[in-house]
Amino acid sequence: MDFNLRPDQLEIQRKVREFCEREVMPRCQEYDRKETFSWEFVEGLKRLGLLGILFPKEYGGQGFDNTAYCLILEELGRADASLALTVESHNSLCSNHIFLAGDETQKRKYLPRLARGESLGAWALTEPEAGSDASSIKTTAVLEGGTWILNGSKTFTTQGSVAGVYVIFAKNADASHGNGLTAFVCEKGAPGLDVGKVEKKMGIRSSDTAQLHLSGLRLSQDHVVGRPGRAFRDAMRVLDGGRVGISGVAIGIARGALEEGIRWVKARKEEFGIRPDNVGLTAAQKVLADLAAEVDAARLMMFRAADLMDRGEKFSKEASMSKLLSGDLAMKATTQVLDIFGPHGASMDCPVQRYFRDAKLYQIGEGSSQIQELIISRYLLAD
Ligand SMILES: Cc1cc2nc3c(=O)[nH]c(=O)nc-3n(C[C@H](O)[C@H](O)[C@H](O)COP(=O)(O)OP(=O)(O)OC[C@H]3O[C@@H](n4cnc5c(N)ncnc54)[C@H](O)[C@@H]3O)c2cc1C
Repeated sequence: MDFNLRPDQLEIQRKVREFCEREVMPRCQEYDRKETFSWEFVEGLKRLGLLGILFPKEYGGQGFDNTAYCLILEELGRADASLALTVESHNSLCSNHIFLAGDETQKRKYLPRLARGESLGAWALTEPEAGSDASSIKTTAVLEGGTWILNGSKTFTTQGSVAGVYVIFAKNADASHGNGLTAFVCEKGAPGLDVGKVEKKMGIRSSDTAQLHLSGLRLSQDHVVGRPGRAFRDAMRVLDGGRVGISGVAIGIARGALEEGIRWVKARKEEFGIRPDNVGLTAAQKVLADLAAEVDAARLMMFRAADLMDRGEKFSKEASMSKLLSGDLAMKATTQVLDIFGPHGASMDCPVQRYFRDAKLYQIGEGSSQIQELIISRYLLAD
């Protein structure tokens, strides 16, 4: 077991941290306040190659391993969880689905474009009546004379209104296609693919989240990603990988809040001469110490899952454990650090309030904490 990061991993971590501190952190509060997606930040992502982190160079990617990917997402999450979610959903969900399940033509057509950031990617599974139970989606795909016709609605699609490439799930009405899910890749502007309501959110407000309406969307066979009727398994594989990446974002939020807590306590000690045996200070120190230990523990869990992925071993249980622990930690850390700020924690000027609002999504999205518990318990009871 080697706990040291390699020079290439440290190098990309440093570059992303510098980008965040120089370009993202000074501006992200403004995008959050205005609830605006930042194309300015996307330019920075392109420059650093962060829209094709995991994919081999032959598809225009950077060819980084999953540990480096998690480090990148932690740095982004510490700065701006909205931007981190853009990077995560673009890489882990849309691009990775095409990479894992697409044919060679689809990979060569879409992955370089996505990696260069010419188009952002979106991955649309969730519907108004189906999220955790993905197999119950209602969007239909009917094959007529060699063309698929899709009808239905998607909700809470990240990059829904700003993407250029969409992976969309539908259910086959025809039992000969396994009566299961089929994934389709299609492009912005396709007749019958319309963007609906853009969600107004409590947190991750500068991440774009929108509804999609499919009304008679016609797609030829070459838009099917993977085997018709068999996309449920692909979706679960994609989500497993996504959970490892999303852990990085959640750990970044927890670390960001912890750093703000440390800064606040230090400043009060120095400015107001509060003695170390002051009851309030001792309580705050305990919170900070416990959170520091938990952030480290969550990061080690994430590294284990990332390492299993890189070695091509089974990682589903470890990914769920990592996502459960880090998502819950993001919420706990931001809540406890806000408490340390006392009444200042209730102010929109408090640097932790954005982390606090952002953290909630990481207990909800890409499989809620309850769903992670369900997955982990299935493994425990099967062993
Ligand atoms: C900001 C944001 C961005 C998102 N981006 C995307 C995206 O890009 N693509 C996409 O497809 N989806 C996206 N989602 C959707 C998200 O993944 C789902 O909201 C999530 O998976 C939960 O599904 P649901 O909304 O249907 O909730 P439900 O499944 O209805 O769950 C509601 C509650 O019931 C609990 N629950 C459900 N089933 C069980 C069970 N069997 N046992 C115990 N508890 C259970 C859940 O944990 C939750 O607390 C996004 C959501 C948000 C908020």
